[in-house]
Amino acid sequence: MKSRIFSGVQPSGNLHIGNYLGALKNWVEIQGNYESIFGIVDLHAVTVYQDPAELRRKILETAGLFLAVGIDPKQSTIVVQSSVPEHCELAWMLTCVTPVGWLERMTQYKAKTEAQETIGDGLLQYPVLMAADILLYQAAIVPVGDDQAQHLELARDLAQRFNSLYGDTFVMPATHLPTVGSRVMGLDDPEKKMSKSATGTGHAIGLLDPPDQIRKKIMRATTDSQPQVDFETLGAGVRNLIEISQAFVGWGNAESRAEFGGMRYGDLKKKVADIVVSKLEPIQQRYRDITAEPGYIDGVLRQGAERVSPTAKSTVRLVKERMGLYTGV
Ligand code: ATP
Ligand code: MG
Repeated sequence: MKSRIFSGVQPSGNLHIGNYLGALKNWVEIQGNYESIFGIVDLHAVTVYQDPAELRRKILETAGLFLAVGIDPKQSTIVVQSSVPEHCELAWMLTCVTPVGWLERMTQYKAKTEAQETIGDGLLQYPVLMAADILLYQAAIVPVGDDQAQHLELARDLAQRFNSLYGDTFVMPATHLPTVGSRVMGLDDPEKKMSKSATGTGHAIGLLDPPDQIRKKIMRATTDSQPQVDFETLGAGVRNLIEISQAFVGWGNAESRAEFGGMRYGDLKKKVADIVVSKLEPIQQRYRDITAEPGYIDGVLRQGAERVSPTAKSTVRLVKERMGLYTGV
């Protein structure tokens, strides 16, 4: 029997090349080796306010992009989190074994609440819901970008805590980070990771950005005061551009040194833009084809929810039994 993987993306904005290189591309490569479940985690998205009409649109767009990058619905399951109510049910049960201190330590919580006057409880609870997403399916492996490593560690800690309190219940999930592309940085500020929820037109390259916009964003990307690529003194901005190309093309360090060493920044940017545009164009074409077929995406999502429902139900039942909750009806 194949072991199971789970991973998800929030429909909280435009999917970008960081999501692709850190998560989606990796999913496509490994989907055949596992029983794969990929979630559109809309309940995570609403931890910060989302315009309802826009959220509805983004859920379908995200599903369309999963398919366009090569997630095969015959091989893998694509599911919208809120269509499987057991995610929330299990999240509550896990909340009850979670020390608040564990949550307050999370870097993403600190970063996302930094500038806010009132902090929504959802932002604090986020990693518990994420742990529930993973543990609900007894996933053995969770392929994510580097920014989610801390949350995954927390999911493991929670599984362990639950198992030791109530007896062996959950599979311990392990991570699976891509070797390059696990942390794509913002083009406008290479000290910050590229994020859907960050504002600023030059920050992220969207998977659906038109080629001329992609080129413009890359040509304007922040670099440093050097004139050309020197691998001994690489600044964060230039390193980011090089790593983006490496991750897209699959080059190792030696190949990328041979390709980019000594190159003037202007030429580097042109080359990186060519690579990104050429890799995104087929994805965009597939996206147009997929969305041209009415009802196709909804069908995939309906089928996804049906497929995972028995596993979700059986985990919640097991957890109820372990905790002594009522299972009589
Ligand atoms: P948000 O700003 O709404 O949190 P996000 O861009 O961080 O959006 P998520 O939906 O939180 O995207 O994450 C989806 C997946 O993409 C996760 O596996 C995450 O690790 C990965 N990911 C997100 N940003 C990056 C990045 N800059 N580089 C590599 N992987 C990333
Ligand atoms: Mg995020």
